[in-house]
Amino acid sequence: TPRVFSGIKPSGGLQLGNYLGAIKRFVGMQGEMETVYCVVDLHAITVWQDPAELASATREVAAGYLAAGLDPTKSILFNQSQVSAHAELGWIFNCVARVGWMNRMTQFKDKAGANAEKVSLGLYAYPSLMAADILLYHATHVPVGEDQKQHVELTRDIAAKFNHDYKQDFFPITEPVTEGPATRIMNLRDGTKKMSKSGESDMERINMTDKAEVIAKKFKKAKTDPEPLPETVEGLAGRPEARNLVDIYAALNDTTPEAVIAEYAGAGWGRFKPALADLAVAKLSPIADEMARLMDDPAEIDRVLADGSARAREIANPILQKTYDIVGLLRS
Ligand code: ATP
Ligand code: MG
Repeated sequence: TPRVFSGIKPSGGLQLGNYLGAIKRFVGMQGEMETVYCVVDLHAITVWQDPAELASATREVAAGYLAAGLDPTKSILFNQSQVSAHAELGWIFNCVARVGWMNRMTQFKDKAGANAEKVSLGLYAYPSLMAADILLYHATHVPVGEDQKQHVELTRDIAAKFNHDYKQDFFPITEPVTEGPATRIMNLRDGTKKMSKSGESDMERINMTDKAEVIAKKFKKAKTDPEPLPETVEGLAGRPEARNLVDIYAALNDTTPEAVIAEYAGAGWGRFKPALADLAVAKLSPIADEMARLMDDPAEIDRVLADGSARAREIANPILQKTYDIVGLLRS
């Protein structure tokens, strides 16, 4: 049976790329397939997280999912560390994955930068824990942004090697689902880098909880070239910042870049940017208001996560037990 799994790290406040590239698409898949969505707190600690902030960021990511329309009766919503099978299967996959495979992960190179000797071992092994997150549910579909596609491909390699080494047809070969105009939202100050929660400057991203004035200011200051919008989408080639703002508009408005260009052909930034800011405020502010309301009652969020964790364990634990049997780990 088809099953969807995906996750978001509580490594800071949610940003527009998380909404358009992940949460909005996750919500759209509800009801079509069985859907399992996670707040991946064990991934967040691959870089230092203040303990009190980690707990509150975990609730904030959960609130973001719920406020954007995730229905905990239709989807399983939980945080990773409450289902210990993730860490357990992650260890087994550390013994399946090859060091050479990890060395090819571009996200590790980006995140470690020139500092590769000083980052945590967890940051390096992260993709094998992510494979465990996915395969513990025998997930067949994983909606992610472009930046995570390589990790889902590695998950396929891990599943195939496990099946081959143990002469089993146990783990499915998962499909990454990356489609639509919003799978790689770029940084507002540098159109060659993706927008991230953990990026240095707050001006480079729109946070899901930003106030209307802040959203307007960030788009106003967003880097662009001096040319007006082109007459056709082909005219966006070689203009990463222009392309990004048009993609954001299209994704927020559930339309295509072609339709946006048809409406704003030849428009200057002085006209387009305020229209984009108004659209973003109209779409994001109801979600931000609902997030604030949910965050006022942390006990209720914790209850949703506890319930989701119990339902996640019902799927994950039998798959972990079967994995132990296949590997020959004695259960007495
Ligand atoms: P961090 O900087 O800590 O890595 P992040 O903003 O990249 O945070 P993640 O928790 O790593 O967020 O990713 C959660 C989901 O959001 C993933 O599916 C990822 O592909 C998606 N995502 C993250 N950034 C973007 C973006 N700029 N555009 C589209 N999707 C994105
Ligand atoms: Mg990321």
